[in-house]
Amino acid sequence: MAKLIIQNGNVLTMDREATIIKDAVLIVDGSRISYVGPKSKAPLVEAEKLDAGGGLIMPGLINCHTHASMTLMRGMADDLPLEVWLTEHIFPAETKLTPEAVYAGAMLACVEMIKNGTTSFCDMYLHARQVGRAAEESGLRAVVGEVIYDFPSPAYGELDNGFAWSQELIKGYQGHGRVRGAIMPHAPYTCSPSLLEKAAQISADLDADLNIHLAETQNETSQILEKYDKRPLDYLQDLGLVNHRLWIDHGVDLNEDEVARLAEAGARVAHCPESNMKLASGVAPLELYKKYDVALGLGTDGCCSNNDLDLFCEMDSCAKLHKVHNLDPTAAPADYVLGMATSQGARCFGWENLGCLEAGALADIIVVDTSRPHLSPIYSPYSSLVYAAKGSDVRHTVCHGEVLMKDKKLTKLDESEVMARAWEQVRDLGYRD
Ligand SMILES: [Zn+2]
Repeated sequence: MAKLIIQNGNVLTMDREATIIKDAVLIVDGSRISYVGPKSKAPLVEAEKLDAGGGLIMPGLINCHTHASMTLMRGMADDLPLEVWLTEHIFPAETKLTPEAVYAGAMLACVEMIKNGTTSFCDMYLHARQVGRAAEESGLRAVVGEVIYDFPSPAYGELDNGFAWSQELIKGYQGHGRVRGAIMPHAPYTCSPSLLEKAAQISADLDADLNIHLAETQNETSQILEKYDKRPLDYLQDLGLVNHRLWIDHGVDLNEDEVARLAEAGARVAHCPESNMKLASGVAPLELYKKYDVALGLGTDGCCSNNDLDLFCEMDSCAKLHKVHNLDPTAAPADYVLGMATSQGARCFGWENLGCLEAGALADIIVVDTSRPHLSPIYSPYSSLVYAAKGSDVRHTVCHGEVLMKDKKLTKLDESEVMARAWEQVRDLGYRD
């Protein structure tokens, strides 16, 4: 039985043929799309209706790398080098985190994402169970993992507990329709060979993704070269981590041979241009990822290094960064960049039938209100969405067939309550008065 009809808009399918359907109707049955096509051929069904108001109907955006609960630290320590930022500010602040604080921060992130049209996110953090809880309650799709590293964690304590938590998380979400667990070692410079080998074993045994920050800066490469006499990707490869389950975040300081090896292994990459710009980490080799057809998604990274979770702004930054970096205005065209936040992001997630709008696909759908001065007129929807639209232009958000925002109003969550809880946690943690 049909559950939802979205009509009176143009559909940007983001399928392989880049099909755009004018004056389309989209019908949702349960968690999936049962029909998308012209109004004239749509079956007659009775269901809740969402009016697109002449706007653009498109796949929900996919955030391939974030730390949702870092919303609590948004703007806490800006304009610092990565190592100083991480070791003198972020890690000390994180030692104070409680499960309730992580939950409150993740809920704030979920509200922000629903409002700006993001329907899937991949999250690495402490107390990851609480991030999973926020994803479950908010209705968003997520891959969540407990961040593990050599030193004792403010969440799980000794490393053995970190492995146990990760395994429980992965097993606990097996068969869940929207949330999945993964194993998430932090980075080569915080994870010993034995930690990484064990993580790879868990990833293989449970057929779970292994997500890790990798090759974020040249400084990281120097550190790993000095410590292990090899570059970060070789460090991972020699420990057996480079395979189709590997999902790396950043991938900035990689050469052509390394990108080719990632492609051959079927590994995936979350590109985080705004974080890389803000922390002055460098520019990821987008042209190489394109050349070798690596699954390249887009990530905001956490709110400390961005400072928001708006993938529309991220797309804009991404396209412009690669143009200026290559001194080539044809680098990172708008349709390719929109693909990074939708169909390519879905390849990163490894979720079938995600990131495009066609019959049988998962019903993760957003509607962008184009009746705005900054979106008038429209020559190419790709250009308008990447270079002019903002997250605040999203009117409706649907995830897994469920309407999470209708006419800019959240349907499941109380926005004021979520913000108040986040403020309360920020004060309780002593982050600010
Ligand atoms: Zn990160």
